[in-house]
Amino acid sequence: MIMFDISYLQEEADRLMKIPGVQKGAVLKSHLAAIKERGGTESLAKIEKALSDLGYPLKLQEIKSMREYPEGQTALVSLLCQKLLGYTDEDIFNQAFAASKLSFFGQLVMRTFLSFEQVIKNVSRYWRKHVSVGELECYEFNKKEKFAILRLKKYVFHPVVCLSLAGYFLGMFRYVQPNVKIKETRCAHKGAPFHEFKVTWQ
Ligand SMILES: [Zn+2]
Repeated sequence: MIMFDISYLQEEADRLMKIPGVQKGAVLKSHLAAIKERGGTESLAKIEKALSDLGYPLKLQEIKSMREYPEGQTALVSLLCQKLLGYTDEDIFNQAFAASKLSFFGQLVMRTFLSFEQVIKNVSRYWRKHVSVGELECYEFNKKEKFAILRLKKYVFHPVVCLSLAGYFLGMFRYVQPNVKIKETRCAHKGAPFHEFKVTWQ
């Protein structure tokens, strides 16, 4: 068995886990399920062991969908995917996209909305149902030119999360709009006052 020395990640793990804010277990659960779907039980076991070694144990089987967990734990999981499983930026995005598809909670919430436009315009409410920190808003919805601008404020964890969020958002929007795409156009980790995502469709 290959052993990984992850002590170099301890400081970053502590920093992420100390940032105030909680999330519903459903989101975290879907991320771990997507890691398992992608790389099998071996990949999942690596992540679970690393979380335990870092002092923040979490097991897919034990996560309760409606319980609250630190928001930083998602960032930590994504970071471990990069460092231990060799995920590229694209892999992080795709894993989060798959996670949103596996989220029963997400499917349920999305079914209560009527149209893509309503989903986009209700992102703030939807965000707040899952996460206690940060403010996601629909800054612009341009029906004619088929684009929307989303802004995420007061939310700074780790750059890897931006990729993960973009993938997760896209998965959610795909429930109600087949040809939708997403791109982060401004980033709080790159000097902008918030993260900005441009959503386009056909
Ligand atoms: Zn960002």
